[in-house]
Amino acid sequence: MSTVPRTTSSPSPTVQPDKAADLAARALHAGATGRWVDFFRDLHAHPELSMQEHRTARRVSEAFRAAGLEVTEEVGTTGVVGVLRNGDGPVVMLRGDMDALPIREETELPYRSGATGTLPSGRTVPVMHACGHDMHVTCVAATAEALSRSRDAWAGTLLVVAQPGEETFQGAAAMLADGLFTRFPKPDVALGQHVMPAPVGHVVHRSGTIMSATASIEVTIRGRGGHGSQPASCVDPVTAASYFVTRVQSVVSRETPSFDPVIITPGMFHAGSQANVIPDDAVVTLNLRAMSDASLERALTAVRRIAEAESAAAGSPRSPEFAVFAEGPATVNDERLVEDLATAHGTVPGTVVTRLPQPLMGSEDFSEYGLPGGRYDGEPVPYAYWLWGGVDPDRYPGFTPADAQSADSPVPGNHTSRFELDAEPTLLAGNRLLTTAALLHLA
Ligand SMILES: [Zn+2]
Ligand SMILES: [Zn+2]
Repeated sequence: MSTVPRTTSSPSPTVQPDKAADLAARALHAGATGRWVDFFRDLHAHPELSMQEHRTARRVSEAFRAAGLEVTEEVGTTGVVGVLRNGDGPVVMLRGDMDALPIREETELPYRSGATGTLPSGRTVPVMHACGHDMHVTCVAATAEALSRSRDAWAGTLLVVAQPGEETFQGAAAMLADGLFTRFPKPDVALGQHVMPAPVGHVVHRSGTIMSATASIEVTIRGRGGHGSQPASCVDPVTAASYFVTRVQSVVSRETPSFDPVIITPGMFHAGSQANVIPDDAVVTLNLRAMSDASLERALTAVRRIAEAESAAAGSPRSPEFAVFAEGPATVNDERLVEDLATAHGTVPGTVVTRLPQPLMGSEDFSEYGLPGGRYDGEPVPYAYWLWGGVDPDRYPGFTPADAQSADSPVPGNHTSRFELDAEPTLLAGNRLLTTAALLHLA
């Protein structure tokens, strides 16, 4: 986890924000919409789990090649990189993720998924595109095609990245470790977008921090097992782990500054196999969220300290063990870039730009691309990441982006079995937003 402060220098747009939207409208070929909707539906019907996106990557590579890009496959496992060189000018990166989730799809869509996949544990699970990554990568491919067709309207280099394993926070790191910014032109600007349960036409921007830093930690509390009737000759790890789970919440209530929120969720608690056996150990796996990498590190330190103290209090024969995984830094948007993008997106017909009042507690490994130092040498890349609506407004009249955050939202959210996008309008909006954003720096 990097704690190096971000010192990106804000890139200036090369075209006036209102002109970028016009150029994008001209670049996007209306006749291609049906083809891209079919492409999206095909990806939706064939979802693949994180870091196993082989078929998806093949389809995306074909699309990048057909658009006239130089294509490299298998970057960081299944990642695909497309490069379109078009004279002197900035390098603009567009990123779309490709992975799906272990969820059984329960929509009524004619192209719903019946796919299964195999988790790293060996378990076979149903698989569904329940986060919209099928839409994200389709928009990247469609935008690449639009920019390739309109090469006379811009100059520079387009770097398109189809990324594996976002849900598991593996993909961006794997692509960077495999030389994304050394084997290919290093971007001056990186752009990414995510669909959200809001009406089509809504775009949500936020300057600065838009999404939290995250990490998961597996805590193994060691006891000394034995017969359930003989607790005095054992050290019960279930009791110790239970104290740990309850006490660890005091990190949030007693140790965290009020205006720097932290979330600690013990999502898994595994111990024992029978009522009359005291097990040897108990395993608690927690997910943490924080507004900065430093706050996340502070919370992780507190989790370790409490696990060690509860183990000692129980008389545990050995110290607990820790394994941190799925770590990702906070997503911190470049402020200047967001202001220019929000202005440009505001001129796209039918678009309502809103500002997110506070960051989301969700997280994204898109943030890895802006990390200084860590996984590649050199200066950090300034980036912007925004959200756009994918819900049919006629189906949920009166529904607003703010309603999507409420507990009784009528619209199924991301990561639910009924998550559903209004394919064609969502695609049209996503293409227009992404193409506009790219042209803001390339035209
Ligand atoms: Zn997701
Ligand atoms: Zn997602």
